[in-house]
Amino acid sequence: MAQFHVVGGGLAGSEGAWQLLRQGHSVTLYEMRPKKMTPAHQTGQLCELVCSNSLKSMAEGSAPGLLKYEMEALDSLIVKAARKAQVPAGQALAVNREQFSEAVESALSSFPSFKRVDAEITQLPDVASMEADDSYWVVATGPLTSDSLSRFLIEMCQAPSKLHFYDAIAPVIDAESIDLSKGAFWADRWSDEKGLEDQKGSYLNLPLNKQEYETFIDAVQAAEMMPLHSFEEVHYFESCLPIEVMVERGKDTLRFGPMKPAGLTDPRTGRWPYAAIQLRLENVEGTMLSMVGFQTKMKWPEQKRVFGLIPGLESAEFFRFGSVHKNTYLHSPSLLRADLSFKANPRVFLAGQISGVEGYTESAAMGLLVGRFAHAKASKRTFESPPRNTMLGALLNYVTHGGLGDYQPMNANLGLLSPIEKQKGISKADRKLMQVNVAKQGFDSWKSERLQN
Ligand SMILES: Cc1cc2nc3c(=O)[nH]c(=O)nc-3n(C[C@H](O)[C@H](O)[C@H](O)COP(=O)(O)OP(=O)(O)OC[C@H]3O[C@@H](n4cnc5c(N)ncnc54)[C@H](O)[C@@H]3O)c2cc1C
Repeated sequence: MAQFHVVGGGLAGSEGAWQLLRQGHSVTLYEMRPKKMTPAHQTGQLCELVCSNSLKSMAEGSAPGLLKYEMEALDSLIVKAARKAQVPAGQALAVNREQFSEAVESALSSFPSFKRVDAEITQLPDVASMEADDSYWVVATGPLTSDSLSRFLIEMCQAPSKLHFYDAIAPVIDAESIDLSKGAFWADRWSDEKGLEDQKGSYLNLPLNKQEYETFIDAVQAAEMMPLHSFEEVHYFESCLPIEVMVERGKDTLRFGPMKPAGLTDPRTGRWPYAAIQLRLENVEGTMLSMVGFQTKMKWPEQKRVFGLIPGLESAEFFRFGSVHKNTYLHSPSLLRADLSFKANPRVFLAGQISGVEGYTESAAMGLLVGRFAHAKASKRTFESPPRNTMLGALLNYVTHGGLGDYQPMNANLGLLSPIEKQKGISKADRKLMQVNVAKQGFDSWKSERLQN
């Protein structure tokens, strides 16, 4: 009988373990805390929430709400435990942390085939040993994976450049919410010098005049920032500095960096603007655009306010806000198969934030899928993944294929789903709801037609 070993007792590992236990498997879960702590965790409990106590919105027309709907339909332990430990928080699913961890621990411990081992795993057995004892391993060690295991994973994949220790996320904007009447133009840098000025470029450029630029810089300087964790302080890389750090170096630094106007001829004036922001496509549908080089630690409401000063972004809606923080994650699209197992060893699966998703629920979602994929592999069956136009399917697709831009951790958002065309008389909120309903229908049909249990 197959043996399952799950490394990491966080959101993804606990959910993955649960999905395996409920299919009748034996699971050993290795958690290094409390023997060895991470820089952010405070306890030895499973599923400790390191920061906010919210698993985000439950609202019907929202991406996090849709994700929880799908997870709940697949008997998610994390959503179940969160509901048990829920505290009032409007439309958000917020929890009492201790009760949440206790609910997870007691659900897992109710299976006699579950064993928790308090130990740091520094390496995994090789493929031959796993085949010999018919074992499978799930790595779900999160954004603060211990150094020795990180080193082992690099060796296993023989790919040092595929492990990232920090994310530097630029905001992603809903393309539809950009006001194109404020001078925005599509062009690649230097396209007119190359005689390509008549072709639509791949960047949407937002030009700023001197006054607009200075107002923006002043607002960045005055904005409130996310507090740094003690273990994060000194590690910015020159190539991906937060914009506020660049502004500290001088008012014009951004104009010589990500807001450089050189080579961007404004069709309104025939000249380069004083400064410009470039937006790059994040998906082939063109519904998601990222702000190139705009990683930032400004608080989310501040990002909305400060970026709203940029002509064209006054009413911008953000699919993902910018961030910069310590975050160990692998370049999954090149290292993993479609079932989240490693190309280097098909008996090892990767789940959670380390696979390139962002957020408690998203991490648990990857654990849920891995639990089902691993069960299928051990049972010599196929687990047909949820369709691409569901939130689980969209996140899985992102992790296994990436997007058009750099591979940066992704949260659940409606930009990952097929858009609903603008229609007269239908509000944006209604179209969001329609988008979610289409995804739910797709999910429900998949569940009733394709899922065995
Ligand atoms: C400081 C910080 C704050 C965050 N705040 C939020 C937030 O407010 N909201 C949100 O949605 N997301 C937040 N995140 C992002 C992310 O969603 C959470 O980190 C989430 O817990 C990730 O789930 P996970 O299961 O992948 O990892 P974790 O929940 O971190 O679980 C991984 C577990 O693996 C253990 N482990 C690590 N290495 C080993 C090893 N070698 N052997 C055995 N055990 C090991 C760790 O101790 C940990 O318990 C935050 C991340 C960080 C780093």
